[in-house]
Amino acid sequence: MDLQNLIKEKGVVGAGGAGFPTHVKVGSSAHTVLVNAAECEPLLHKDKQLLFHRTGAFFKGLEMVMAGVQAQKGIIGIKKKHTALIDMLESSLPANVDICRVDDFYPAGDEITLIRETTGTIVPPGELPISRGIVVNNVESLVNIGTDGPVTTKFINLAGDVENRHTLEVPLGVSFADLLAYAKPTLSDYAVIEGGPMMGSIVTDMESVVTKTTAALIVLPKDHVLIRKYTDMASEERVNRIGKAACDQCTFCTELCPRYLLGHPIQPHRAMRSLVFHHSGDQPARPETHALYCCQCNLCSFVSCPEGLYPSQVCINNRKQALAQKAEYEGPLSNQGHPLAQFRKTPSRRLKTMLDLNRFPDTGELTDHSISPESLTLKLQQHIGGPAGPVVSVGESVEKGQKIATMGDALGSEIHSSANGTVTRVDDTCIVITPSEQTN
Ligand code: SF4
Ligand code: SF4
Repeated sequence: MDLQNLIKEKGVVGAGGAGFPTHVKVGSSAHTVLVNAAECEPLLHKDKQLLFHRTGAFFKGLEMVMAGVQAQKGIIGIKKKHTALIDMLESSLPANVDICRVDDFYPAGDEITLIRETTGTIVPPGELPISRGIVVNNVESLVNIGTDGPVTTKFINLAGDVENRHTLEVPLGVSFADLLAYAKPTLSDYAVIEGGPMMGSIVTDMESVVTKTTAALIVLPKDHVLIRKYTDMASEERVNRIGKAACDQCTFCTELCPRYLLGHPIQPHRAMRSLVFHHSGDQPARPETHALYCCQCNLCSFVSCPEGLYPSQVCINNRKQALAQKAEYEGPLSNQGHPLAQFRKTPSRRLKTMLDLNRFPDTGELTDHSISPESLTLKLQQHIGGPAGPVVSVGESVEKGQKIATMGDALGSEIHSSANGTVTRVDDTCIVITPSEQTN
């Protein structure tokens, strides 16, 4: 079986982002494979744990991808502060693989930013890294490629106000409620963020389940600044009304925007200015199409804006509207980065201070656990593309690693059972399995 089909059959997707199917990435030729090990979200550290504890599988996956795309070199982009980890990796680096040390800033893990930091190349707005001969993979995807068998587990961080701040390998489909029971929140009145503090989302249903893209659960007090910000941002009417009234067009949001600093056309202050030209809560007749180039990092909303406004959300709303109208950006394009870009990076330490996260460590060992869920709910859509089609029915016995849903030739990812057990439900969105034994 060739590499592309092998990865497709294993069901590997980008474990750190939107879940882009990895087999598609290895279908082209590239001169460089870049490993995104920059992990820039505060409190997230599962990739570092994987590099420490799954080193063999990681290097094997990297070498397989390099061979598959015929790359002449591999680069591991990692923050220079991780000196012990870098020393360990350097002692066993495969041929033609280098480590590139990057500064500790946000969003160093944005793949377009990381490409600039590690190779000096600016990927033009709207283009993919492969247009510059570069394939980017995150650490967990490479570990999954280098590990025998299909993807049935996910590595996640449990962080914030919990007793057990651990990194865990858990079966796909386990509920957040089961994970929180293990994590043991130390507060009675708390909220939970799924993912990183900057680009995550508030969990509204604790029966939500782990998918191939779940990275972390972060427990915080309900009145924590981040929870307030996410709650405020959820109301488009409020974001627009207050933004229209309070934005003084200082342009800080644009001047610190990482994609603007790469020379991309995004300018969040212009999206904010456009609010003046329509009534509160209404959509502008013509969306700001430069918002199509926003990477949704939330830096402008959580850090840059001195007024505490939400330009990222205004950009996201404009982006949605532009996509719905099939409107395209028609302004000038540049391939030149901002001359002051290197001096306008937002240090991670500042981010943690501003978001009141300093009391939480960015560590938590990969730990064996004793979570024994009564059921596992495998989502049929854990990836970019359409949902997978079930190939099992209710009452059927399945084994761990058995394929239970397939994409056929469509874009997406194959889904495998994460436990031995019995199928108890199949519908348009998921397959539920009752495990017959402990899953870890
Ligand atoms: S930083 Fe805030 S106040 Fe300044 S232009 Fe941007 S949204 Fe407006
Ligand atoms: S969220 Fe804000 S800072 Fe980030 S890319 Fe979009 S406009 Fe720029």
